Amino acid sequence: MIDYNECYYSPGTDKHSCCTHPNYCIFNPKRIQLEKRIHNLEKELHYRNKSLHFLKKEGTHNTLDYETNTSRIKILNNDLKELRKFRDKIIKKEVKAYGFI
Ligand SMILES: [Zn+2]
Repeated sequence: MIDYNECYYSPGTDKHSCCTHPNYCIFNPKRIQLEKRIHNLEKELHYRNKSLHFLKKEGTHNTLDYETNTSRIKILNNDLKELRKFRDKIIKKEVKAYGFI
């Protein structure tokens, strides 16, 4: 099992020769950016789901808030699905020139 949060980075010329996963290295700015995007979407999804739950409990199903949250949750779920798929492709090395290789 590869630990994707570990890197045997060495400060020599070939910095990532010891990395077990240079395609998805923890020091890769593109990876950091991607994970940040996923994390932010997850955070918003969590918030939207909580709001929706609250609105349902209140019984205000037909408010604009309800509509907004429902459609936003759909978009967020879809974006997250695509980004996670993309991440899996990088990990499986199906995306070329993403990491340090
Ligand atoms: Zn590395």
